Amino acid sequence: MVQNMLQTPIDYLKGVGPARAKLLRSELGIETYQDLLNLFPNRYIDRTRFYKIGELQPTASEVQIVGKLVNVRTVEQKRGQRLVADFVDDTGRMELVWFRSIRWIREKLLLNQAYVIFGKINHFNGSFSMVHPEMELARDYRTGLRMAMQPIYPSTEKLTKGGISNKAISTILQNLFQQSGKHFSETLPDHILQELKLLSKSEAVLNIHFPQSQELLLGAQRRLKFEELFYIQLQLLMKNLVQKQKIKGYPFEEVGDNFNKFYRNHLPFELTGAQKRVIKEIRYDMGSGAQMNRLLQGDVGSGKTIVALMACLLATDNGFQSCLMAPTEILAIQHFNGIIELLKGMNLRVGLLTGSTKTSERREIHEALLSGEMDLLIGTHALLEDAVQFQNLGLAIIDEQHRFGVAQRAQLWKKNKRPPHILVMTATPIPRTLAMSLYGDLDVSVIDELPPGRKQIKTVHRYDSNRLKVFAFLKDEIKKGRQVYIVYPLIQESATMDYKDLMDGYESISREFPMPDFQISIVHGQMKPADKDYEMNRFVKGETQIMVATTVIEVGVNVPNASVMIIESAERFGLSQLHQLRGRVGRGAEQSYCILMTGHKLSNDSKVRLETMVKTNDGFEIAEVDLKLRGPGDIMGTQQSGVLNLKIADIVQDSELLKLARYHALKVLKEDPGLHMPKNKVMRFTYAQMAKFKNIWNYIS
Ligand code: ADP
Ligand code: MG
Repeated sequence: MVQNMLQTPIDYLKGVGPARAKLLRSELGIETYQDLLNLFPNRYIDRTRFYKIGELQPTASEVQIVGKLVNVRTVEQKRGQRLVADFVDDTGRMELVWFRSIRWIREKLLLNQAYVIFGKINHFNGSFSMVHPEMELARDYRTGLRMAMQPIYPSTEKLTKGGISNKAISTILQNLFQQSGKHFSETLPDHILQELKLLSKSEAVLNIHFPQSQELLLGAQRRLKFEELFYIQLQLLMKNLVQKQKIKGYPFEEVGDNFNKFYRNHLPFELTGAQKRVIKEIRYDMGSGAQMNRLLQGDVGSGKTIVALMACLLATDNGFQSCLMAPTEILAIQHFNGIIELLKGMNLRVGLLTGSTKTSERREIHEALLSGEMDLLIGTHALLEDAVQFQNLGLAIIDEQHRFGVAQRAQLWKKNKRPPHILVMTATPIPRTLAMSLYGDLDVSVIDELPPGRKQIKTVHRYDSNRLKVFAFLKDEIKKGRQVYIVYPLIQESATMDYKDLMDGYESISREFPMPDFQISIVHGQMKPADKDYEMNRFVKGETQIMVATTVIEVGVNVPNASVMIIESAERFGLSQLHQLRGRVGRGAEQSYCILMTGHKLSNDSKVRLETMVKTNDGFEIAEVDLKLRGPGDIMGTQQSGVLNLKIADIVQDSELLKLARYHALKVLKEDPGLHMPKNKVMRFTYAQMAKFKNIWNYIS
């Protein structure tokens, strides 16, 4: 059956009719033949195995048995009747029972004929029974589209009530296969089918609905999952290509004095291999003539700042200005101070603009930006204000991306005639597979290596009952001159309760760590921003040794002298949040510790989270576990992306296939961006059809 015919409305299929068509549409969204063909089973039941009555176990769920009916009778019961038949094979006897359509069934049952029955086993008083079995005469069993594995389709109550049972779906599918002569047009090119040894389209759809063997079923799943992922990747990558052709960027062709001088004379350390690779990627991207839109992922402490700075130097070398935007004032100030330090002895003008910059200073900055005197502006949201105009902004960098919305990124675009290159940096690792599906149309760089000599943070899990020992440990660390974070959960819905927990905790800590030997800072969501900053700064400066806080403590804040992170009620935090918090320590030369405090009652998921934290420091590994625990639905950004609406593939379980699909989509587009080569004709056609009939594009927003 060719593609066009597959667009026939489902009403026209034999065995469907208007009433059923209406149900199929409203309940399963099936409008056309194609939609029916793409109604993939949720699971399969093994029908290769035949049981003997004598070997049935009370635990057996769905079984298939060959035997004969020897006696059929109607039994009166409180309400109505039931029909009971004795069913025997050479090993035993059991009962088959019906409650509905009794008369009709009784007429059809044949005594002393071999039947294949299938259904769920009940066990009562030492004997077995089966209610409303599926049954078929054994002599008919070998005709028709026989399957080794019986598919189970998605269903709803309305469907079952409307007479569209699992078997009914199988039957109308069988009609579709008969009408098509089991032939469906191929949708993947030969060269890919051959290289990956994939089943043909016809074989695949036949075996997904009527598996001829376990192996063919697996082959069918592989082929159809690959196809689904492949066309999504193809679409994302094509979008990216088109965008690159459409949106011209400023070509940064020069690698000039500033960059080279800094690299030779001012780098305080040897760059890691990953940093070098990423700088190269950025350099190439900004030099290509297209506008860069790049996401830079790197675990906490992996050294993203220096990469950002070197990208800014490239902008300067090409006569452009840059800006670096941070989510909070403290972070902006930290970046500013760090970068000033790094650029010492170089002739660059760097400014800092935040909400609390004084008016006179502000005016000065505005002027220096317009005249082009200022090379790099660091700041907060304040950068986005209309009053901030550049002479020629060529590069905008956004740190800790998840605090900024897409709208804000767009505001940055408007700061110059052409959009500046954009580099978004995040320390929240997104699993590679997810990044591929989410950002297939965005370029991603990854720093997957920490600077050398970092001591691994030691992470342990302790119960509340061990609190005294934990406090004793804290005292030792503080005596050595270290600082400590103690973090409490903050969940919006129960803010008052959390506040109480925090205050109770603060009180007991104050008792345990009395003044004047110990100084304690406290920061929480109900404080005024200015008070928060004040307390935070006392800790940053080392005036206090203990920081008691809810999770409002700043992402990315850098206090290298802090060596212990205590997380209270750790079971209430998500994995990525735990990892982010842990990243606040381990920034100095000292051995650092993360202590996860919990009560004794823990859910299984909490246990996995805690064990994962204890076991590994690798943000990507943690992100993968997180994805498995929570599914893609809860991970930032996935809601809009549609990775949830996949028909057959699953981005968690099929991550290898996803990588393969992306690899092949890239390979095809590299060789033949417009899909014009004869060998890619099938693809061009399928792609156009999909766009036309919106079959697959439902899940790409
Ligand atoms: P993040 O990726 O979390 O923003 P930073 O850029 O703040 O990380 O870097 C963390 C620390 O590591 C900083 O003190 C920085 O100077 C240091 N650092 C970065 N790169 C290297 C390197 N290649 N070798 C040694 N130290 C480095
Ligand atoms: Mg950072």
